Amino acid sequence: MRNTEQKSLILEVLQTHKDHPTADQVYNEVREKLPKISLGTVYRNLEKLSSAGIIMKLEIGGGQKRFDPNPMGHSHFRCLSCSSVEDLPHDFKIDLPEIPDGNRVVLGTTLEYYGYCEECAATRQLH
Ligand SMILES: [Zn+2]
Ligand SMILES: [Zn+2]
Repeated sequence: MRNTEQKSLILEVLQTHKDHPTADQVYNEVREKLPKISLGTVYRNLEKLSSAGIIMKLEIGGGQKRFDPNPMGHSHFRCLSCSSVEDLPHDFKIDLPEIPDGNRVVLGTTLEYYGYCEECAATRQLH
């Protein structure tokens, strides 16, 4: 199987997810279709797709890296109990101050909220 076919299958699998899977999770699903693929190959392709700006890599909460099929800046809510990561609505914006000094090209900003997701909050009777 050619590299580009592996890459597009990995992308396809990721695009079915809204839960920001880890490389391991993507690997387990890709393996159902391509039993010979290695975790390293899946991981390398996810890294390539994210440096090409096709997907987004999330390095949050100190846990394993997660991958997001939506590369446009959007904010996330991370559950401290079950580690789920949800997207916040796209139009959810806060006015942030300009970055002082420098000629950086700012494309957007993302925020990470954390706490307990609906399910975990209900279990802990936080509502
Ligand atoms: Zn939770
Ligand atoms: Zn997301």
